[in-house]
Amino acid sequence: MESEADEMLVDRERLEYDDEDGSSVASDIQRDQKKDLASVLRLKVDEIDVALARIADGSYGRCDECYEPISKARLLAQLPVFMCVSCRASV
Ligand SMILES: [Zn+2]
Repeated sequence: MESEADEMLVDRERLEYDDEDGSSVASDIQRDQKKDLASVLRLKVDEIDVALARIADGSYGRCDECYEPISKARLLAQLPVFMCVSCRASV
């Protein structure tokens, strides 16, 4: 429900700004936000690539810091995850 509402909001913003000439402040801000979002998503893709490689070689699911197995609940709750809860907390 919440994500649907968000999508509607984004659609409305796009309708408002797309017809402008592209030099307005609002469009510039929106472009910066898209760039930020894209770089965050690219980082996520990189992390997922690393996770997939580790799954392939069997090392995924162990903490990078202490090499203890990470709980299944944590592995499923957050993707991808490379550190156990206690190591994550001490970073
Ligand atoms: Zn750890």
